Amino acid sequence: MNQEKYPVTYGRNLLTTLTDSKENWLIVTDPVIWEKLKGQVKQDAIQLYFVTTMEKKVMEEEVKTLSGFTQVLGLGGGMAADAAKLWATAHQVPLYQMPTALSVNAFLCYKTAVRYDHVVKYEGDILPKEILIDFDILEQAPRHLNLSGVGDLLSCLTASYDWKINALITKSHAFDQRIYDETQEMLDLLAEYMGDIVQNKEPGLRFIVRAYKEIAEHSYRMRHTMWEDGSEHNVFMNLERITGRQFLHGQAVCLGVYFMSAFQDNQHERAVSLIQRSELDIRPQALQVTIDDIRQALLTLNQFVRDQHIRYSICNAKAVTAEWVEEILAKYQRDFPVG
Ligand SMILES: [Zn+2]
Repeated sequence: MNQEKYPVTYGRNLLTTLTDSKENWLIVTDPVIWEKLKGQVKQDAIQLYFVTTMEKKVMEEEVKTLSGFTQVLGLGGGMAADAAKLWATAHQVPLYQMPTALSVNAFLCYKTAVRYDHVVKYEGDILPKEILIDFDILEQAPRHLNLSGVGDLLSCLTASYDWKINALITKSHAFDQRIYDETQEMLDLLAEYMGDIVQNKEPGLRFIVRAYKEIAEHSYRMRHTMWEDGSEHNVFMNLERITGRQFLHGQAVCLGVYFMSAFQDNQHERAVSLIQRSELDIRPQALQVTIDDIRQALLTLNQFVRDQHIRYSICNAKAVTAEWVEEILAKYQRDFPVG
């Protein structure tokens, strides 16, 4: 593994230092974050781009609207990080990432989450020149956003199992027992750090970044993200499709982990305990969906992955039955009671 692939700098007051070190920045962010952080940018030679969509067709035109910058900084959450990748790729300039919350691992992922008519697809291939983790900024982020980051760690519980199944059936995503074992260790550590994560404290935030980084390095080396992105993501994508809503990533992914760990018969109670301790609210009203929406998302899961040509996972290997759905929905409502 090449450690240089994802150089991460940890510290405080990093935004001023970074932007002072070079001229001609394109900063990809959003108006709320910019309002909060612009005082830390003393550099005049900057251009700003406020991201509003990741629809591929729209973004292909958007990236032509500005020029003359020599590097791009993604400053924000997942959308800013992903839009910054598109800008840096289109203009072939270095990419810097400074997440303002750890809600998703987009700032480390070499692929970009774009949407085609609202359905997410992961594509592209770009590495950041540097990732800056500023604890002053991250500790000020709304707690639920950093908590959401737990989703893309917990997803490894179900995704790594899907990976095992996938590797038995296809030749495209070679299985690696060592990485599988490391995933289990990461989940142990996640349990240990959960208290600090829930309190939005530096050791917890540092652990999330470290774990994201290890995941990203393996994924880059393996040239796939199978072991971090599996059936749990499929459940939430299907729920998005059915309801037309966009969810807080970690919340919806954890919901997917809840159901798919049971469907896989894979460490389900471990998943339940980690989700409960994370304080991520995965009850229907927190997601603003109904039990019936979730029921439909499960009942149509087999069909959804076929229609969307999503890579092979438990969703292809095993049929979802109405009987199982009712059983697990009853358990879900016991594990996460309303009110
Ligand atoms: Zn994810």
